[in-house]
Amino acid sequence: MSDTLFSQIIRREIPADIVFEDDRALAFRDINPQAPVHVLVIPKQPIAMVAEAQPTDEPLLGHLLWVAAQVAREQGLTNGYRLVINNGADAGQTVFHLHIHVLGGRSLQWPPG
Ligand code: AMP
Repeated sequence: MSDTLFSQIIRREIPADIVFEDDRALAFRDINPQAPVHVLVIPKQPIAMVAEAQPTDEPLLGHLLWVAAQVAREQGLTNGYRLVINNGADAGQTVFHLHIHVLGGRSLQWPPG
């Protein structure tokens, strides 16, 4: 897949407010937050979108969910939070490097728009 700005954040070529990092994942604050806490969790290995994940990516996908829960805990989201993955045009995906949005710190509406 082609390089995205999230790969540039991983390589520290553009700045980001990083809140978590390990060998497989990075988490940083969204530049246009939609909630008091809005963090993006991304794999260091680029996958364009969840629909393009391969069977061999299954452990990595699970790890990203675990990281999202860790981030939510560390950000103090004790009253609940929402994890969102936008996949493709109809979902409004704008950056084609798989990411989990961690949203919390306010009451979130359902259904989403
Ligand atoms: P999506 O619409 O699901 O593809 O989400 C992409 C997200 O990336 C949006 O919420 C943007 O606000 C966010 N974003 C774009 N550029 C940056 C950046 N340089 N640093 C942090 N977040 C970004």
